[in-house]
Amino acid sequence: MNDRFISTNYRTDCYHCRQVADQHIQAMPNRADVTCEACGATRVFVPRMEDVDDAGKFAGPGPWPVWSLAVEAACRNCGVSGLHDLTVSCRSITVRCRNCRFTHLYRFDLEYMADEPAAERPAGVVTEHSGTCP
Ligand SMILES: [Zn+2]
Ligand SMILES: [Zn+2]
Repeated sequence: MNDRFISTNYRTDCYHCRQVADQHIQAMPNRADVTCEACGATRVFVPRMEDVDDAGKFAGPGPWPVWSLAVEAACRNCGVSGLHDLTVSCRSITVRCRNCRFTHLYRFDLEYMADEPAAERPAGVVTEHSGTCP
């Protein structure tokens, strides 16, 4: 099975460097992360649950603006390749299959600065949220 589930970019102002830059969003079964292509700030999210979310409640109405994207992916539940609703907020990421409504919910875990965006090794791990999110 393909272990890279979602991989996409969203161009917006970075919460860290405040530049408008591509934010690279990656979701895998065991982890999801968002990396700023300009400064390398990375936020890591860990899976909290996976279930069919008929009402779309997992994404929840948050007090802060979220990124709402539709990305093409192969659903890990129904196996259909099609659009998934990807919602990224400060505290959580959800990926929801439009076909069967199966939803992955990831919760914010930590953030770090990567010297190279591709590097796996956390350099200077910050466990507290930087406070730039509301
Ligand atoms: Zn940045
Ligand atoms: Zn599905």
